[in-house]
Amino acid sequence: MTENKAAAATPRGLRMIVALAGRRNAGKSSLVNAITGQEVAIVSEQAGTTTDAVAKPYELLPLGPVTFYDTAGLDDTGELGGQRAAASRKVLYRSDMVLMVVGEDGLTAEDKRIATEIKKLGIPLLAVFNKADKVPLRKEDADWCRGEGLEYIRVSAKNGENIAELKEKIVQTAPDEFKKDRPLAGDLINAGETAVLVVPIDLEAPKGRLILPQVQVLREILDKDAIAVTVKEERLADVLNNLKQKPALVITDSQVVQKVAEIVPEEIPLTTFSTLFARNKGDLPLMVKGAEKIDDLRDGDKVLIAEACSHHVQPDDIGKVKIPRWMEQYTGKKIAFDFCAGHDFPENLEEYALVVHCGACMLNRTEVMRRIRECAARGVPVTNYGVAISKLQGVLPRIIKVFYLLV
Ligand code: SF4
Repeated sequence: MTENKAAAATPRGLRMIVALAGRRNAGKSSLVNAITGQEVAIVSEQAGTTTDAVAKPYELLPLGPVTFYDTAGLDDTGELGGQRAAASRKVLYRSDMVLMVVGEDGLTAEDKRIATEIKKLGIPLLAVFNKADKVPLRKEDADWCRGEGLEYIRVSAKNGENIAELKEKIVQTAPDEFKKDRPLAGDLINAGETAVLVVPIDLEAPKGRLILPQVQVLREILDKDAIAVTVKEERLADVLNNLKQKPALVITDSQVVQKVAEIVPEEIPLTTFSTLFARNKGDLPLMVKGAEKIDDLRDGDKVLIAEACSHHVQPDDIGKVKIPRWMEQYTGKKIAFDFCAGHDFPENLEEYALVVHCGACMLNRTEVMRRIRECAARGVPVTNYGVAISKLQGVLPRIIKVFYLLV
């Protein structure tokens, strides 16, 4: 497998997303080509050749897999152009890092406005003054970057000047979570200890494989030189009886957490895959606080069930059927459920008493945090499927206990 194929095969949620923003003809497409060493977008002297964001996976060492998004110009005009510019902005807000590419005209008022907005969202930003072969860097632009505390570099995509330095700067400016691995379960287990993973094989389980969160947790346990035993819930009691040493940890799929909590003795730490991911990619204390809001729900309250991608709805679908049913059973209230799938929350987010988000396995931490911040900024409590299910099944304190033992 080549490096780029390896990068492309890495799950989307683990790749760093770097978006290139800037005016039309600032040289964004040529810059992606210069960084990745490949032709990925049509490069033309004519402004506005890139119509939609073009994704290019690349292995940026020592960081790892990165996807560069070459976006349409933010100054695109006309009805279609305006739509393209709006779509480009959305890509920017979902990125882990933005390269603000500046062409011959220097920094414009719009570039500065976008840069300020991106900084406010806490997304690392690097100003890249392209076309160093044609124009010198303007003193006022360098002063503005320094005044804003913005890292900048002068490059030429055309003759390769400073492209290697730009890659180094991208690595230096990358968010910490891409430099340091945030643990899933690796800090909950020591080498030589055993973790039992409970994986139901039901109608919702994909044919012939485990799902990504299960595989990632399994891999981390093996990396830790610990032992992983994977079992269906029906066989869990047998496994616990047969193990010579008590497992250090049991991790279960949330959907069978209540049954598993009855089988696993109290003294064995127990948590769920979703809780591990809420901690790894999001903000576990905030998700727990959000789940506690279920106790305050009243008749007629609206709850938004949000999924990051669309999928075929199963008869007993977790988001569409089970969580609404369990929530009404738990609260005894008549709740109005709305559902959304995809990148954006509905405009009327404030109307919701609670947002229950999916496990976000396909999203990276920046995007999960962006969604959490959007809810927080609009005063809406947020939790995720797994944490909410543990609450609804009455086992939440036990599921999160293992993390407080770490502190
Ligand atoms: S809807 Fe959410 S949990 Fe399901 S696959 Fe998509 S990102 Fe993962």
